[in-house]
Amino acid sequence: MIIVLRPDATDDQLQHLVEVIQQAGLQAHVSAGTERTIVGAIGDESKIRSVPFTAIPGVESAVPILKPYKLAGRSLHSERDRIMVGDVVVGGDEVVVVGGPCSVEPNDSLLLTARAIKKAGATILRGGAFKPRTSPYDFPGLGEEGLVMLDEARQETGLAIVTEVMDTRDVELVYRYADAFQIGARNSQNFNLLREVGKFDKPVFLKRGMSMTIKEFLMSAEYIMAQGNPNVIMVERGIRTFETATRNTLDIAAVAVLQLETHLPVFVDPSHAAGDFRYVIALARASVACGADGLMVEVHPNPEKAMSDGAQSLKFGKFERLMGEIAPVAQSVGRTVRPPMKES
Ligand code: PEP
Ligand code: MN
Repeated sequence: MIIVLRPDATDDQLQHLVEVIQQAGLQAHVSAGTERTIVGAIGDESKIRSVPFTAIPGVESAVPILKPYKLAGRSLHSERDRIMVGDVVVGGDEVVVVGGPCSVEPNDSLLLTARAIKKAGATILRGGAFKPRTSPYDFPGLGEEGLVMLDEARQETGLAIVTEVMDTRDVELVYRYADAFQIGARNSQNFNLLREVGKFDKPVFLKRGMSMTIKEFLMSAEYIMAQGNPNVIMVERGIRTFETATRNTLDIAAVAVLQLETHLPVFVDPSHAAGDFRYVIALARASVACGADGLMVEVHPNPEKAMSDGAQSLKFGKFERLMGEIAPVAQSVGRTVRPPMKES
């Protein structure tokens, strides 16, 4: 921590600041310039992180040196992570594509979608059994029945499955069925939920909250990791801005920033960013070009009948097109995309 004193700070105020630092078990290194005095607090910065330095008389500002996200950050761990979701490697050379309907519905749309996305080259199936809906009158998901349907789709296709968990009381149930948890944008600062999934050994797709800074996003990952679960996959899904042409504003720069700041894999969900199927493929291409390790895309056999997020869901043909269009982009940035399966 570097602490800058006000120009009019007195010697007594400097002495008091030095005592505060020393009492916390750190060394105070005083550097007196002609106009300003600067004090370096040397040692375990975590011991003074909660000290409100600017409330101490004579202090103008305090700048931490270390990043607060010790586990998620790259200072202690520079190698990029590879995380297994079922038997799919996330964070390797291959850009991993997760596809599937927004919700698991009481019909055959999940199974039909699972077959179609697999054929197109996706390796992980998504589908919400517990849905965070803005209106309490909207379809809330099928609960455990939806988890059973995800499991059946996995058994038939061999795809790994990821599904959202919204409540600490459901974490164990979701763990029994899914290969990975999803924490949604609306719950990404639900610290009890983050701690709970942190106690399990399956990966977590952590969505960025709609009003979350990148630093706060990394701190949410830190919550999960601090409980012992290192397998967090960051998912940029657009943030709220003044723009209304899209549902959210895809913060494409967040992909580049996260790739520098963390060793965790970084995904993009172009569907929730766009809110409109017509923009999804372009945002997917941009994401891969920017260095995303994977994509999460909503796909539905008949979007006009979808029980949630139909407007942003791709039909099977469009999803195949997406896979085809990201392949050369991936190649241009040294990555690969799984090719479509050959017709048998
Ligand atoms: C979803 O994936 O269907 C979803 C609700 O996403 P988000 O939490 O990003 O809004
Ligand atoms: Mn959705």
